[in-house]
Amino acid sequence: MKAFVVTAPKTFELQDVAPPIAQSGEAIVKVNRVGICGTDVEFFNGSMPYLHDGQAKYPMRIGHEWTGTVISVGAGVDAKLIGRRFVGDVMLGCGECKRCKTGRQHTCANRFEVGIRNGWSGALAEQLAIPARFLHEIPESFDDTIGALVEPGANAWRVADAAQPAPGKQILIWGTGTIGLLTAQFCIAMGATVHMVGKDPVTIKLAIEVGAASAGESVIEIDGGYDVVIDATFDRGVPAKLVDLVEPGGRIVLIGVDNNSAMIDSRKLVFKDITMVGILSGSPGLPHSIEFIKSGRINPRIIVGATVGLNEVGEVFLGKRPTGAGAGPKILVDPSKF
Ligand SMILES: [Zn+2]
Ligand SMILES: [Zn+2]
Repeated sequence: MKAFVVTAPKTFELQDVAPPIAQSGEAIVKVNRVGICGTDVEFFNGSMPYLHDGQAKYPMRIGHEWTGTVISVGAGVDAKLIGRRFVGDVMLGCGECKRCKTGRQHTCANRFEVGIRNGWSGALAEQLAIPARFLHEIPESFDDTIGALVEPGANAWRVADAAQPAPGKQILIWGTGTIGLLTAQFCIAMGATVHMVGKDPVTIKLAIEVGAASAGESVIEIDGGYDVVIDATFDRGVPAKLVDLVEPGGRIVLIGVDNNSAMIDSRKLVFKDITMVGILSGSPGLPHSIEFIKSGRINPRIIVGATVGLNEVGEVFLGKRPTGAGAGPKILVDPSKF
């Protein structure tokens, strides 16, 4: 089968590799669609911190925002899964440790992360192996485009959940990329008023289209201030600004990561009585993401700018915008085209 392999920073090959064989407890999935995310770009560029602390190394088969059809199963897995469509958790915890047993398997010290950590082959390939217990079935009404948005949606749901949105709450989201826009959709669906700040005029316009009350290149002052502020950027300058911006007693939610540490003055958290929350993954949010999309409470389709073949992925990583791409920041890949 074909797989997209990153062999060194900004160096890639579309390789012929052996298809995966289902081990005990595993399913093999034919990947129908996979999204490219900021983490993939960091792996491609060589800037991802995991490459520098030994949690990941080249050659790498990346891709973790996938949807696909189960085509075979290993020992101990119900054969009725075959032919059905799923998304999967990125974080594959050991299942044995305290963290795994208390619903925090995404923080398991021994976890694999699909296409990210400890060498688990990713979804930018025709097929993928995954332990069946990490599969989540998607409804009949989801096409492949929507299916591929469930995983980023799960991250965004967790950010929104941590923001505790409610009618009357004013939320500032910094970053108008995929996660920022999806988080806006969830927060608005939960009743909050959302304001957004971004860099790109195209996605700033999308922010208004998804229902933000305001969106621009700089923060606007609003009556009553921001109850919650969210960092969905790759900019280490943002967290300190959010500490200053948030109303006393408010919340800061962080999902963006720069490759270098962001510095904040912790005294301000104390004096302003701020709650600060970090979000690592979408794992506990997957069922919620599916439910919000299924019920029509959010419609993430607007996030997708284009769908390309496996043969075009390298160009996209090198910064080429696919011809005919729409405004959406998310690029999807159909691995059956190469
Ligand atoms: Zn991602
Ligand atoms: Zn564990």
